[in-house]
Amino acid sequence: MTLEERNALEQAALRVRQHIVRMSTNGGCFIGASLSCADVLVYLYWRFLNISPLTVNAEDRDVLLLSKGHDVPALYGVLAERGFISKDRLKNHLSVDDHIYWHPNRAVSGVEFHSGSLGHLLSVGMGMALDARMKGLPTRVVVILGDGELNEGSVWEACLVASALSIDNLVAIVDRNHFQANIRTEELVPLEPLAEKFRAFGWDAMYVNGHDMESLDECFGALQLNTGRPTVVIADTRRGKGLPSIEERADRWFCNFSPEEADALLDELSGNSRATLTSETLIVR
Ligand SMILES: [Mg+2]
Repeated sequence: MTLEERNALEQAALRVRQHIVRMSTNGGCFIGASLSCADVLVYLYWRFLNISPLTVNAEDRDVLLLSKGHDVPALYGVLAERGFISKDRLKNHLSVDDHIYWHPNRAVSGVEFHSGSLGHLLSVGMGMALDARMKGLPTRVVVILGDGELNEGSVWEACLVASALSIDNLVAIVDRNHFQANIRTEELVPLEPLAEKFRAFGWDAMYVNGHDMESLDECFGALQLNTGRPTVVIADTRRGKGLPSIEERADRWFCNFSPEEADALLDELSGNSRATLTSETLIVR
């Protein structure tokens, strides 16, 4: 990856984060988890996935499924930047007149499947990957999982079956931001050693710095998807990445900011200042 390419990806990630901040007003969003997976999503849509607005219905397209659907503002931002939906449409976030809403909805171009209830889309992705293989298609299916989501037993059922059926065009990515809602994962149900657990289920497992484009490029450039085994990439991330005023704060997992606070956060994203926030965090849904 050239320096120019890396800069372009980082600038795209900054624009996606700006979209996320703007969507954290007028009702709010799960901003912490949205910011933690923003770099991974940008990398995938710019450099890895064979999908575009022109091929959104092509049978041989790659598929991305956002199983941790509460961080969909990051996906909306990416889809807007890639031209699947208009940037102007992001202003409709949480409007009853649009489907740009709390969780992914297939009515939005580029969204492949509904999610919100956690623990389901690895099974869905496994089925889509198996279908593609049976049809002889080159489709790769990528499923983004939350680390807290791994407490859902259905995730591990999918891991068992994907391994048993040797579904090697399936890639799970764990957004390992070390938080589940407003508590650290290791304080609730410890996940480590995580890679060893996936390997015990017959998966290939690797770690990557989920905020470094060069590391992401090395990781996904080296992926072997013809091994007879599914793959998991554990992306080490920080919740709220990009905004020091909320980063790693348990009480900033869901936020509904005032327009003035959002403006301060946009400045903070640009490195101009650190926002002072007074809005109460809402514990909802
Ligand atoms: Mg998490």
